[in-house]
Amino acid sequence: MHQSLSDQNHLEVAIQRELDRLCKLWGISNIREGIEIEFSSRLTRSLGRTLPAKKTIRLNRQLLGNLIEYLEEVLCHEIGHIAAFHKYGDSVSPHGEEWRSLVRLAGFEPTTKLDVSLEKTEQRSKRRFSHSCPRCLTKRIAKVRMTRWLCSVCVEEGLDGHLLIEEVL
Ligand SMILES: [Zn+2]
Ligand SMILES: [Zn+2]
Repeated sequence: MHQSLSDQNHLEVAIQRELDRLCKLWGISNIREGIEIEFSSRLTRSLGRTLPAKKTIRLNRQLLGNLIEYLEEVLCHEIGHIAAFHKYGDSVSPHGEEWRSLVRLAGFEPTTKLDVSLEKTEQRSKRRFSHSCPRCLTKRIAKVRMTRWLCSVCVEEGLDGHLLIEEVL
């Protein structure tokens, strides 16, 4: 119990320190105090969401647990949105050149891949596999590999009915 509590405090300190570093680096220390970071377990499709005008950052709670290796990079990504907005105005494009150069300056490769990494895990359940007969070209689709399926047409003709299984991309 004590261990996990102190771990959490340690993380909180580390997050605030990173926020200090980025604000100084990007020259937005004047709005540093107004930036609010909260962790939410309700974010399911992304690792972070930021409202630049409100200076509010909501981060996926999984970043404190099983996705902790992304925490620093996501922090930089999201604080970068606030910095770009306050330095260059509200017409700045969210992942445009201004934002990209800020993220690069902070030592990360600008990417929007992190935004969708959770959607990708979701898509995994939408995988489809085709089961096709190389002889008569009959094809069936399933959500998983059905290794016991055979081509009924060919089996009826006394052949082994072996099917080729491929993921549909
Ligand atoms: Zn973003
Ligand atoms: Zn067949």
